[in-house]
Amino acid sequence: MNQSALFTIFGGTGDLAKRKLYPSLFRLYRKGNLKDHFAVIGTARRPWSDEHYREIVQETIKDLHPSPAEAEEFSSHFYYLSHNVNDTNHYDELRELTERLDEQYQLANNRVYYLAMAPQFFGTIVQHLQSQGILTEEGFNRLVIEKPFGFDYDSANELNRQIRAVFPEKDIFRIDHYLGKEMIQNIAVVRFANNIFESMWNNRYIDNIQITFSESLGVEDRGGYYENSGALKDMVQNHILQVVSLLAMEVPVSFSDESIRLEKVKALKAIRRYTTEEVTENFVRGQYDAGKLDTTEFIPYRKEPNVAEDSATETFVAGKFLIDNFRWSGVPFYIRTGKRMTEKGTRINIVFKQVPVNVFHFDNEDVSPELSHNVLTIYIQPTEGFSLTLNGKQIGQGFNPEPVKLDFRQSAEVTENSPEAYEKLLLDALRGDGTNFSHWDEVANSWEIVDCIKKTWDQITPDFPNYAAGTMGPKASFDLLNKNGHDWIWTPDNWYRERGKLD
Ligand code: NAP
Repeated sequence: MNQSALFTIFGGTGDLAKRKLYPSLFRLYRKGNLKDHFAVIGTARRPWSDEHYREIVQETIKDLHPSPAEAEEFSSHFYYLSHNVNDTNHYDELRELTERLDEQYQLANNRVYYLAMAPQFFGTIVQHLQSQGILTEEGFNRLVIEKPFGFDYDSANELNRQIRAVFPEKDIFRIDHYLGKEMIQNIAVVRFANNIFESMWNNRYIDNIQITFSESLGVEDRGGYYENSGALKDMVQNHILQVVSLLAMEVPVSFSDESIRLEKVKALKAIRRYTTEEVTENFVRGQYDAGKLDTTEFIPYRKEPNVAEDSATETFVAGKFLIDNFRWSGVPFYIRTGKRMTEKGTRINIVFKQVPVNVFHFDNEDVSPELSHNVLTIYIQPTEGFSLTLNGKQIGQGFNPEPVKLDFRQSAEVTENSPEAYEKLLLDALRGDGTNFSHWDEVANSWEIVDCIKKTWDQITPDFPNYAAGTMGPKASFDLLNKNGHDWIWTPDNWYRERGKLD
């Protein structure tokens, strides 16, 4: 597909635009998804010239090794407009440039507005796009917005009201970049294209589900942002609940964005809204202290730049969601995410129930050999693939079962050459396909779920810090599973402990 469109990037000088958007646009250009009929307007306050902007754009695609002619040709489609989003006059200049480029590149009035800026500006930008006549009647007008979408249900609802006053839902593309990741998209294929899984995808066969999004990095230079967010809002409200809904949803009637969304929303609606007591029972928060992993030493969160000395912000969350419907009643969906954990990794473990009777018990032996649970693991990053743990017979005398693992990982070459999440999402937005974006109903339900937890936490002063940097979180996170007779399947910390590299 070669689509004509004008991209207007608000926040064109920012980190996201430089690290993700320009390289992704270049990949689309290189693959021929964007050709002669595209142009980009970058806007922000600083007074850059087109020439300087194009140099910056070229700099951002250096790692993709374009030839000088290719870099020159690609960046010639980029135009810069110094623009303060709060200044109405600037939108008139934007309209003039938009109309000029539309004609020059024959863009058929197709427009994508990408808001790579802090959310407090979203309302004013969309209002001005309308009031200053930048939106067109012909072609398409699509709005791409970044997370965070609000900071609780009420603020998200207000933001949504402002945006929906200008753009219909079908033209709003709320980015959750995890939804652009290959293996997240693969969840649907693993489930709906494999009878052995879909037929067992319910509370009769599944014991529990574990979702881990762990980061080995600390808060780095994002202390200011993170202090107002924390792990619950930064990760659970969006990425983790999206994954829960993909795992829990019913089979859609067809693989269209509407059918999938309908089922995801039903799954989110069925997640139990916890009372204060239930939050305390089922959710754990943590904040990292100093720590040492192997030879590397880490400072506590409270000593990071732009973090309060008595900060109550959580850098770790673990919890148990319950889904009150026929398919999932009684199956815990455990989730955990945090910073400064042992290893960076996103993975899902589907833990199947044990066989009803262990027949490998022999009269002349006191104990039966233990059977492991069958576990389907979906690896999302850094490696991509899945594995299935089964019980096989140990070679030799007797009938001792032992776990064996069927392991499939995409090769590094395939992973490197597969499109980046932002590239896929930009192409989806260009095609008008909303499957891999968050619909308002999903955002609203996720905020409702998270607000219950946050409200309870706000009433109690946490006992922070409570986990050492380099570990897999506070003890309470392990206790949370243990009290239901479960254990976290993924324990990279044990590898280090066994070798004396972690206390
Ligand atoms: P950033 O580096 O701080 O960029 C903000 C941009 O907004 C800059 O280009 C800034 O340029 C511009 N800006 C600020 N005030 C303005 C105004 N009044 N009028 C016009 N332009 C203005 O932020 P970012 O990291 O790119 O993040 C942008 C959005 O993406 C945020 O909502 C963030 O949460 C989200 N996000 C970012 C990442 C990431 O990897 N960076 C990942 C996920 C989500 P001037 O100073 O020149 O005006």
